[in-house]
Amino acid sequence: MNESIGSKKTVVIGCAKCKASTTHEILASETERGSFDDFFFYETHYEIVRCMGCQNTCFRKAASNSEDTDEEGQAREQVDVYPAPMERQASVDKRSLPIQVGTLYERR
Ligand SMILES: [Zn+2]
Repeated sequence: MNESIGSKKTVVIGCAKCKASTTHEILASETERGSFDDFFFYETHYEIVRCMGCQNTCFRKAASNSEDTDEEGQAREQVDVYPAPMERQASVDKRSLPIQVGTLYERR
């Protein structure tokens, strides 16, 4: 779900203020990679992101590992956003959200 606007790195996630999925500029990011016994690999991205609509800043964590893959063997990303993009009682049309964000809602 990463895309670029010019040289800026951006990501589309739900914004608490806009109450919609918006493009966020990635202000800072850190990636942690590792493995256990050369068998289990994991990768976690920590990002400070800012909504390009309302300038609200939040934190995004995207984790994937070699054990959690889809039918095609692609690593499934587990995305968490702090603070949570929207209140639980807010009505959200999951079809309009990126897949990862939709999955996040289903877990709550
Ligand atoms: Zn926003």
